[in-house]
Amino acid sequence: MLSLENIHTHYGKIEALHGVSVEVNEGEIVSLIGANGAGKTTLLMTICGDPQASAGRVLFQGEDITHKPTSDIMRSGIAIAPEGRRVFPGLTVEENLHMGGFFTSKDEIRRNQKHVFELFPRLAERKNQRAGTMSGGEQQMLAIGRALMAKPRMMILDEPSLGLAPLIIGQIFDIIRTLRDEGITVFLVEQNAKQALKLADRGYVLETGRIRLEDTGANLLDNEEVQQAYLGG
Ligand code: ATP
Repeated sequence: MLSLENIHTHYGKIEALHGVSVEVNEGEIVSLIGANGAGKTTLLMTICGDPQASAGRVLFQGEDITHKPTSDIMRSGIAIAPEGRRVFPGLTVEENLHMGGFFTSKDEIRRNQKHVFELFPRLAERKNQRAGTMSGGEQQMLAIGRALMAKPRMMILDEPSLGLAPLIIGQIFDIIRTLRDEGITVFLVEQNAKQALKLADRGYVLETGRIRLEDTGANLLDNEEVQQAYLGG
């Protein structure tokens, strides 16, 4: 469904991704793990076209989106749920959700919002609360809910567990499973390697701009190198 083929991405003269290839098949949860500075965010942003890859191709549903404007890419069925604190703090929960439905009609906004409130009853209870005053976990739920408002075929999640308590992380990962069960393909980028690999059908390990390992989530959890470097031995 999503293919990154030998992607190179530069910031000025500095190359941050040195030929990365990743494949996400329809219906899968795929996790990409890596340490700080490995290039995880750069990879996500390259999918979204900002910055664009300097070499290689990004294909989504067979279409080459490498050099498309970000707005076109977002309209094509990919939605990104950024790390939770990037919701609009001064807007209410409902206003944030409506921003996510920007490209859709009023009817769709109503329908999609109903669905988001079913998935996250907490957001329904707090629909008039300003996002900036909500807890970290609630803001993360809102970030995912906002991305869902665009009715995506594929959801990209950037570090959904960042800064959250273990109990809340469990809830967020349960929701990600629900999304997959509803037919949304999931590409997850995480520093929390253990949870991300447990959840994943397949996973990739990114190290300083290169894919170091790729395998099923279960095999990566068992891999000695992964255990030493990412699971605390
Ligand atoms: P983290 O988990 O800390 O967010 P990451 O894996 O997401 O890290 P990136 O943010 O993609 O890593 O960074 C990869 C490399 O690219 C780093 O060396 C970083 O300093 C560099 N980099 C990222 N953004 C820019 C930018 N706008 N300009 C110049 N260099 C950048």
